[in-house]
Amino acid sequence: MVRVPARQEEEVRASLDALEAAGWEVEPAIRDLTLGRAGPVSERTLRVRSVTYHIPYIESASRVVLWGCRWPDCTNCCSRQGRLPLTSDDLITIGSGLKYARTSEFVAAETITSTWSAPGPSGPSSATMTSVNLKRSASETAADDGTRIPCRFLGGDGACTLHPGRPGVCYLYPFATWLQAERGAASVHAAFQFTGDCPGFYLAESVEEMRPTLEEYADIIVRYNMAYARTAREGYGASAMH
Ligand code: SF4
Ligand code: SF4
Repeated sequence: MVRVPARQEEEVRASLDALEAAGWEVEPAIRDLTLGRAGPVSERTLRVRSVTYHIPYIESASRVVLWGCRWPDCTNCCSRQGRLPLTSDDLITIGSGLKYARTSEFVAAETITSTWSAPGPSGPSSATMTSVNLKRSASETAADDGTRIPCRFLGGDGACTLHPGRPGVCYLYPFATWLQAERGAASVHAAFQFTGDCPGFYLAESVEEMRPTLEEYADIIVRYNMAYARTAREGYGASAMH
């Protein structure tokens, strides 16, 4: 069973409670899974294009956990946004979209650089991340970083006002992705992030019904990994698993 560290469990519980208070029903088995209390959870791995997906399988329910976005009925990932780490591609795209002549001016005025710990994507490991984060409110300071707040780019119609130039991490959600060395080459993996903020998860008998979405996301996930690797090479971010 995946254990959720105590502080994180408190945050996740608060997110789940907020989701339910907003009228979303979270299946009990998915609530338990999100809190790390679902009992034995194995996974179904599925290779789609060049991405290996790790899909949770809850043994007690004999079901896999799948996902489908509920937008525009839901905008929760934008109205309770925790942090927006940017890739170096994002710095250029968003900086020029916001009419900055130089990327350095955009970075100075609109971003915060921070370092934080995050759980590993698929188990008890954790990672220390450093990144340049887009300010989610104009007055955001380093002390606010990570606290869930509405993103200033969320429009009244539920659409992102930066779209199509929104951050790569926004395209990626609710997946997390990482590279793993396999036979001397890097292979791309992805799994769901269970933060308690997304009402799109549901139980199903088979992964197959989600295959079209997994195909659509495979390109996004590969692109994000390439952008992330460039970001690290260019010195705008770093991560270390431990
Ligand atoms: S990804 Fe999840 S939280 Fe975001 S809009 Fe879709 S359903 Fe809502
Ligand atoms: S940048 Fe856009 S997509 Fe990303 S959290 Fe803000 S409103 Fe949502």
